Amino acid sequence: MHENLRENLAEIRRRINKSAEKSQRSADAIKLIAVSKTHPAADLLAAMQAGANIFGENKVQEAEGKIRQIGREKAEWHLIGNLQSNKARKAVRLFDVIHTLDSVELAERLERICIEENVANLSVFAQIDLAKEPTKSGIDERDLPELIAFLKNCARLKFDGLMTIPPFDDDAEKTRPYFRRLREIRDELKAQNAFSNDFGELSMGMSGDFETAIEEGATLVRIGTAIFGSRQSKISG
Ligand SMILES: *Cc1c(COP(=O)(O)O)cnc(C)c1O
Repeated sequence: MHENLRENLAEIRRRINKSAEKSQRSADAIKLIAVSKTHPAADLLAAMQAGANIFGENKVQEAEGKIRQIGREKAEWHLIGNLQSNKARKAVRLFDVIHTLDSVELAERLERICIEENVANLSVFAQIDLAKEPTKSGIDERDLPELIAFLKNCARLKFDGLMTIPPFDDDAEKTRPYFRRLREIRDELKAQNAFSNDFGELSMGMSGDFETAIEEGATLVRIGTAIFGSRQSKISG
């Protein structure tokens, strides 16, 4: 299992480089988030041995145990799943980046908790709901200006980018319009100086479609299955 992991990571890096080259981008501008949800800390440690240093988790509770085991400072921790307000304090303590900011209410809460917890900076991405599927979360594009206006006045929250999850499709080409739209929104916001980091990260692309996402400008790809293998057996067990 852990031998595969090393090979899988090498293969993903090779494919990232190839897509970057194809779209005339620097591979250094694309960071790999190893999505380790459902996998035990031992797998994360093995991935670290193979060079992974950014992990994505979708549940605060599950991540907490692994982060404690591995060490908060040993890697960069990204929350990529929905954040319930009652988990916000834990999330502030555990994560470096939250990809799933989707309301002013949540931003208010995170800002207040950062102050209470003496957290100087918390990087946040707005998750945008482009497909408007009933099951997907994220903020509607139309509500984005209000969120951004609020973030401008936050001392602790740093608005650093955008994230989206397109509807699942076996055909990665079908996801391209969503990636392209997210980049357009990013470019508009960048022109308005909306981002704390000046450029605006694009968190988009998963195991099945990360190459398309890179062609459309992804700066962070979130890859689980193609690194750690299938999650199915672990979900049912
Ligand atoms: C699970 C998950 C991923 C990784 O998906 P894979 O298809 O396993 O690569 C990426 N992003 C989010 C938000 C996820 O929940």
